[in-house]
Amino acid sequence: MGRKLKSSKLRSEQISRRLFFCMIAIIFSISYLSIPLIINSYQEYIKSDQTLTEITCLRALVKTANKISRERAPSNKVMSSQPDVLLKNQKELAAYRKVVDMQIDDTIEALKQKGFKLIAYELETDLKVKLATARAIVDTYANTPHAERTSAQYDHAILSMFGVWDESREFLTWLLVRSNSKNSKMSNYFTSILILTDMRDQAGRVASNVMASVSFGEKIPDENRARSLQTQHQAIYLWELIDTIQPEDSKTPEYVSLYRRVRTEFLDKGLPIIARLLDESKNNQTYFLSGTELTERMVGKFTPVMDLQNYILNYSISVAEEQNKLAKRQFIFTLCISSLSLLIAIFTMIYAKRKVFSPLIHARDMILHLSGTSDEQAENSKNKEEFFSLFEAIDKLKGMLKQRDTMELQLKQIANSDVLTGVANRLALDEYIQLLESKPESLSQTCVIAIDIDNFKFVNDQYGHIVGDQVITMIADQLRLNVRASDLIVRYGGDEFLVVIENIQMEAAKVVAEGIRSGILRQKIVLSNVSDSIQVSVSIGVAIGANSWLELLEKADQSLLKAKAKGKNIVET
Ligand code: GH3
Ligand code: MG
Repeated sequence: MGRKLKSSKLRSEQISRRLFFCMIAIIFSISYLSIPLIINSYQEYIKSDQTLTEITCLRALVKTANKISRERAPSNKVMSSQPDVLLKNQKELAAYRKVVDMQIDDTIEALKQKGFKLIAYELETDLKVKLATARAIVDTYANTPHAERTSAQYDHAILSMFGVWDESREFLTWLLVRSNSKNSKMSNYFTSILILTDMRDQAGRVASNVMASVSFGEKIPDENRARSLQTQHQAIYLWELIDTIQPEDSKTPEYVSLYRRVRTEFLDKGLPIIARLLDESKNNQTYFLSGTELTERMVGKFTPVMDLQNYILNYSISVAEEQNKLAKRQFIFTLCISSLSLLIAIFTMIYAKRKVFSPLIHARDMILHLSGTSDEQAENSKNKEEFFSLFEAIDKLKGMLKQRDTMELQLKQIANSDVLTGVANRLALDEYIQLLESKPESLSQTCVIAIDIDNFKFVNDQYGHIVGDQVITMIADQLRLNVRASDLIVRYGGDEFLVVIENIQMEAAKVVAEGIRSGILRQKIVLSNVSDSIQVSVSIGVAIGANSWLELLEKADQSLLKAKAKGKNIVET
């Protein structure tokens, strides 16, 4: 028994262990699928975040470069100023320089915050110094008495301001080289912004290159003429390049309109002014504009370039923000879905183990145990299908239950039968009475025939108990012969029998009783030791219908007593 229990425990542990391994395998599979997804979406999110950071820094640097480029306008204005407007223009320049300084400081701060500390440091130490030097050259020139000024000095001052812009442009390139986003979808925007920055400066240089000569009313030197023409071509080339690079899906109506405005306002209206000045210089004519007028006329022409640049900058930032938002959402979604599926899998497995498999395993063990499957049988089934032994055990149990039912029936029959005659005993009668009394209406149609052997004591005394038993058996046989199988024959006492017949009339009952009586009388019991035979008679009392079983039995008994009293061997009602 102990071995059996141990073996069944072992089987359960084996199944539990297998379930546990299945659970681990499922969790591992889900993790194997979801972890790369999570990592991937996280990396995408980080990348988009970095792109946003980089493009924000790029915007700050572009603004700085533009403002430095733009500072050439008030600088040139001061340097071209007649004494009467010098002070006013110097004030204007000083105010603008403050704007530039603030922009540089803001950019340094933004770069520091976004992790580009080295570029911020270089801006602080290098760009600021270069700008201060260039400004000093401009101021020196502006403070030089008119009579002592030369166009070469003026041009030198302009070139030194070009140098500052070149420096700021270096930082832009530096940022792009270090940028991780240059390989992303945003790279086209980065390039467009850079080209527009270049274009904006080239556009400015077209005028600056001839500024000194125009201010002095001198012939434009060949070098300046070449530089001016080169910058003009470059501006046109860059303008065309922008449209080639710009992604088709981002060419919004606003972009198209701004792009056209650069053509109509800057290229078509700004460049002809310079072309005319170059022509006038070539033909030794007087310039139709002074240096200050040239500055004022050209400044307005750059506005569309700036607007286009700002538009692309803002547009690309909004694209980067949108991508960042999407990547973040994607990452959170992937994380949630993966965690959820993992949790659901774990929950399902735990739930299935507790509510399904454990009770099943328990039930299985109980069935195996109940069916008495031996250790060897269980061991043998290990290599076969898992539930093979279970089905075998269920079959075995079924057989056992069937056997038990048959035995129960047999036992019941034994318990309800009289040992000597095989007819029903009083226990069976009690059950029958219970059934009968549950339907009292049928009691009125029920007949009880009470049969008692006459002078049975004498038979016993004269021939012995064995012969007496033979007589009792003969009586039972005769009763069986005279009633239907559905009628109940009961051995009620030692030599007394009852026959219960339902749904019968008195006349028919009397016929049955008479048949019994005469049938018994005809029987002869042959004695073994003597050549003689004996004959017995019975007295019979018949009763039909009563309010209760006891009343019915009492009536039958009374009739029997009447038969005995009348001299026996008769039927009385
Ligand atoms: P009466 O005609 O008035 O019925 O007289 P009787 O002699 O038959 O008297 P009674 O019915 O009272 O006697 C029954 C006898 O049956 C008493 C008992 O010894 C005998 N007896 C009871 N059970 C058995 C049995 O199983 N086998 C044998 N051989 N005799 C039994
Ligand atoms: Mg008797």
